[in-house]
Amino acid sequence: MISVQLSDRVKNLPPYLFAAIDKMKQEAIAKGVDLIDLSIGDPDIPTPKHIVDAMKRAVENPAHHSYPSYEGMLSYREAVAGWYRRRFNVTLDPKNEVLSLIGSKEGIGHIPLAFVDPGDIVLIPSPGYPVYPVGTMFAGGESYFMPLREENDFLPDLKAIPDAVLKKAKLMFINYPNNPTSAIASGDFYREVIQLANRYNIIICHDAAYSEIYYDNDKPKSFLEIEGAKDVGIEFHSLSKTYNMTGWRIGFAAGNKDVIAGLGKIKTNLDSGVFQAIQEASIIALKTDESILSEIRKTYQERRDLLYNGLKNLGLSLSKPKATFYMWVKVPSGFDSSRFVAHLLENAGVLITPGNGFGSSGEGYVRFALTLPAEKIKEAVERIRKIL
Ligand SMILES: *Cc1c(COP(=O)(O)O)cnc(C)c1O
Repeated sequence: MISVQLSDRVKNLPPYLFAAIDKMKQEAIAKGVDLIDLSIGDPDIPTPKHIVDAMKRAVENPAHHSYPSYEGMLSYREAVAGWYRRRFNVTLDPKNEVLSLIGSKEGIGHIPLAFVDPGDIVLIPSPGYPVYPVGTMFAGGESYFMPLREENDFLPDLKAIPDAVLKKAKLMFINYPNNPTSAIASGDFYREVIQLANRYNIIICHDAAYSEIYYDNDKPKSFLEIEGAKDVGIEFHSLSKTYNMTGWRIGFAAGNKDVIAGLGKIKTNLDSGVFQAIQEASIIALKTDESILSEIRKTYQERRDLLYNGLKNLGLSLSKPKATFYMWVKVPSGFDSSRFVAHLLENAGVLITPGNGFGSSGEGYVRFALTLPAEKIKEAVERIRKIL
């Protein structure tokens, strides 16, 4: 019998946010609580039928049963380039400026391995997607957290980052529309980022997973739309949130060809690409009729309005999201993030996510997800009303 010893990198992992939540959730369910779960960042709406049908056809084709190409089928990368041109008026060379990913989480988690050596710094937003610091730690890098504060519209204050940190920084993650704050970024912010990247030679990784979940027809920008962006970085994208395809595991990175090539080097040595049938279905997905997408956005917008008005009426402090399916809400006085989540779970059977799970700067906030039907959201607001 051997004694199984975990590596330091595994021992040093922070507790996975959603593991703690899952435990609370299981306990509540075991107690028979009729739970309304607004903690999940996973669409409840199924993948549109034309995409599922395309998958059924593609899976029958033996040509797709072999190992895929590492960088993705050229036809998939061309579909990505076409989508960027139509949506953002950005031109990409499908041959070397686009790379398929097994979901954008995979690319985000792996990219520090390509560019970060032990002792190097990665600039990471806090609160933020937990994969940014974990990928950094696995590569031996150090995370420097950039707080996203309400008074700064949840944009990092780039001028507050010390010069010594910037000199050691190799990579910066940014994410707009933002999970968990739902903030969006302006062209001016991106221009400031590009300037900083050029001055200190920092690779910019913009996570744009939510670019298509927007409201009031106010379309978020791509980082790559901004002049000079392609000189300094890449954008991570995903079909997960846009087309309700979280289970399919497909995404892509687009932008600077040297950064794309570096990430590709890591992937060539670790994985063997995305099942080609999924790529075929994704080519169809990327050409989805606008009417289907606006229907999805309408559903979220209705939920957003219900939850926003409901929580506002209860006296909670929040701003109305312009994008994403999240709502970032200040906890009422007398609570911290975890205690407010526990209070709602124990007394109202409503589960939300504590803001501090996204980093210490998320303390004092909670995140609601709009991933349940309107009736459930209404009922959640009613239940919260009774206990506040
Ligand atoms: C959901 C999400 C992703 C990644 O999703 P994939 O399914 O891996 O493509 C990336 N970044 C953020 C901020 C997300 O919320």
